Amino acid sequence: MQEPTDIIMDYLELPRPIAVVLDAAGNIEHLSDEACKLLGYSLQSVLGVNWISLCLPSSWQLKAKAVFDSLAQRRQNQSEQYVYPVMAKNGDRFMFSWHSEARRDPSGAFIGSITTGIKVRDNALQEKNSLLQSAARNQAVLDNAIEAIISINSSGTITHVNKTTEKIFGYKEYELIGHNIWMLLPDAQLADKKTNISHYLMTGITTGSGFNRELKARHKDGHCVPIELTVAEITIAGVRSFTGIMRDISERKLSEERLRQSKEEVQQALDHLAHLDRLHIASEMSTGIAHELNQPLTAISMYAQACRNLIKKGQLDNPALLPTLSRIDNQAQRAGEIIRNIRALVDKQNPHHQLTDINALIHNTIELAQVDIECRTVQFEYFCSEQLPMIEIVLGQIQQVLLNLIRNACDAMVNNEPDDKWITIICENKPTGFITVRVRDRGVGINHEHADKLFQAFFSTKSHGMGMGLAISHSIITSHGGEMKVNQNYKDGAEITFTLPIMPVLGAQPHEH
Ligand code: ADP
Repeated sequence: MQEPTDIIMDYLELPRPIAVVLDAAGNIEHLSDEACKLLGYSLQSVLGVNWISLCLPSSWQLKAKAVFDSLAQRRQNQSEQYVYPVMAKNGDRFMFSWHSEARRDPSGAFIGSITTGIKVRDNALQEKNSLLQSAARNQAVLDNAIEAIISINSSGTITHVNKTTEKIFGYKEYELIGHNIWMLLPDAQLADKKTNISHYLMTGITTGSGFNRELKARHKDGHCVPIELTVAEITIAGVRSFTGIMRDISERKLSEERLRQSKEEVQQALDHLAHLDRLHIASEMSTGIAHELNQPLTAISMYAQACRNLIKKGQLDNPALLPTLSRIDNQAQRAGEIIRNIRALVDKQNPHHQLTDINALIHNTIELAQVDIECRTVQFEYFCSEQLPMIEIVLGQIQQVLLNLIRNACDAMVNNEPDDKWITIICENKPTGFITVRVRDRGVGINHEHADKLFQAFFSTKSHGMGMGLAISHSIITSHGGEMKVNQNYKDGAEITFTLPIMPVLGAQPHEH
């Protein structure tokens, strides 16, 4: 029959204490049942036998003897607690935590000891188990990470991989271990032919910013996997190793590509609109263009007739022929200039940024604008800083912006007295790295409430307005790296300004493709 306390201890898996009673010489006077069971001796067989010699491993005997002696020599009854192993008859060893007290007779003489011991778990085993458990936990974390985690030594040999590595790269663990990391990063190897892996990795690590870069890795089947690589360096007992964390960024790259494509589509739609706007301007100007071209063409025809008459009269060597031919040439040049201006405006194949003299461009555009019937009755004045550097722009687009501003200014002054229709264009080169162009008129001015909406597409206060001119102009100026604004402080009409950077803007997209 088991004692109730035994049943509870079994249930709680608590270790049972053992008891050892020794005489003054350290010989066994009594062993508890538990002790006999554990050590494999019958009580009878060990009575009178020296406990330390019989039951302690030899390496512990001196230490235990010293503890026993100190217990004997102490005057006061002090208890002692310590840990040492016992050895069973069959050689098994058990680690025990001991608690000893001296036994003394009424005169205080030492007559022996009574010791209880509780088995402690094997620390080493416990540590090993907990290490194994923590390693298993870490492995589970590593295997479930969304990144491939690969450890390499300083020569680049793969020493460990997690399960995700297999998913991302298609290789089994055994196909990677022992091989060089370059099998996954062939492109990086090309970029880094002259240096070894550690240097390659160290350059990143030693920058202090951490080693984190985008690379193209290679899947087992040969296709490229865009990855983001982060490298951590670990040194254990002086041995350096690296752990690379590789995140598959295919999805991200795909979304970036989609974003780029949709931006491109928006840009193309915008370009198309801008082109339609220019065609619209040109078609509205067509009467004026015909009229403007008619003048030089009529002049050319008249001068040609005069030449023919001279030839008919046999006056070929007449010096009057030369000036007449020069006039024909001038008029033809003028007609050509008008056509070139129109072509620059409507030409779709004009996407390139080119070094442009903004001064000449403004002059040409004023000339072109005057072809328009509406603008013909308007006076222009143009002021410009003396030192204007050449700037890199898409010529046709900036011309389109200027024409839009001029045509709007003309519209705003339609009800002005004939001598009060003035457009002033000012071009300044302030030391801000930008050229500023101001277009002023003496028209109805811009309502404060409208100022914020002017550059929105389809905003128009005109009965037949499309409301696209300023929206397109604004996007053209922005894509050139400049700014377009309404000057709300200008009171004599309207003033719209735009800026253009003097240095070409890297990455500024030309408006047409
Ligand atoms: P639209 O000329 O077809 O109306 P815009 O985008 O060129 O389109 O102009 C939008 C609106 O901005 C015009 O309808 C007008 O109300 C206002 N606006 C533009 N320029 C001026 C100006 N110089 N003076 C007064 N209002 C202007």
